[in-house]
Amino acid sequence: MNLGRFPRLRFAHLPTPLDPLPNLTKELGGPDIYIKRDDQTGLATGGNKTRKLEFLMADALGKDADTIITQGATQSNHCRQTAAIAAKLGMACNVLLENRTGGEDLDFTQSGNVFLDRLFGARIRHYPGGTDMDAAMEDVAREIEEDGGTPYVIPGGGSNPIGALGYVDCAMELLVQAGERGLRVDRVVHATGSAGTQAGLVTGLEGASSGIPVLGVGVNAPRETQEERVHGLARRTADLLGTGIEIARERVVANCDYVGAGYGVPTDGMVEAVTLLSRLEGILLDPVYTGKGMAGLIDLVRRGRFARDENIVFVHTGGSAGLFGYRGAFADAMASDSRGAGP
Ligand SMILES: *Cc1c(COP(=O)(O)O)cnc(C)c1O
Repeated sequence: MNLGRFPRLRFAHLPTPLDPLPNLTKELGGPDIYIKRDDQTGLATGGNKTRKLEFLMADALGKDADTIITQGATQSNHCRQTAAIAAKLGMACNVLLENRTGGEDLDFTQSGNVFLDRLFGARIRHYPGGTDMDAAMEDVAREIEEDGGTPYVIPGGGSNPIGALGYVDCAMELLVQAGERGLRVDRVVHATGSAGTQAGLVTGLEGASSGIPVLGVGVNAPRETQEERVHGLARRTADLLGTGIEIARERVVANCDYVGAGYGVPTDGMVEAVTLLSRLEGILLDPVYTGKGMAGLIDLVRRGRFARDENIVFVHTGGSAGLFGYRGAFADAMASDSRGAGP
């Protein structure tokens, strides 16, 4: 697969590390779990949107845009990374935030990613949950055009075929890394939301005939909806690549049993996963995506769904800045803690 013909800016720190998680593996009693550190992509505390933005921002510059418009939930990691790269490129950035959970506490509405959006100089516009955010972005685009600007609209999560190229690239990077160290990768697991990450990974891994299955752990939609969304985007991404790769429907697999009460609503499993990774590996997950993704992986391991001798790669898609927007969700876990208290 040749990504070389697509315009791309280079600002991500790549390749991201591929590390073993020996303590988590021991805690769970196998399989061997590895972590692909896409939380370390280097842009504004990192995350998976950075790889997508290398292609999206190149496209925006190619269209002479001077103003970026994008949208996400209040604690959107995508909006934070977009605001950061827009600032670096000297572009204006309009961030449209939808309060999907209706959360009102100050950490949620002002800290974490929202604080960083502000720091990067983005113009923030707030919308209630349930707003048609694509229509809202079109309204803002019209406004900017009327003021003489040239807007470029990036869909939520940067998830269109151009953005998904970033994860086709990640798939190839992972195969090279695994090959170099003689690691047999049996499965890739990650949190799936707006679908671009899984669509890109599946397209890349299928395109390379790797045979490696990808499991997306859902954070919002029910399984059927999520798989259809990923499959549709994977097919469009393969079309953009123009390589004739067929993405079979059954190669797109999501498990949406770990969403809990809804998108962005904490679950006990998320709190456990975030706490475990912090204390066993010194790694920060996040409350909305990777915490639930890892909760899914941990639960499925405990239920014996994977062979003991498998090598599983968890793609850490970032999000730790969101922890500061969800401090309250961890209050109980901290209160029952004895480790910090000393002897
Ligand atoms: C956006 C995001 C995801 C989900 O990726 P999609 O491409 O939207 O499916 C996972 N983890 C984190 C931390 C994210 O910010």
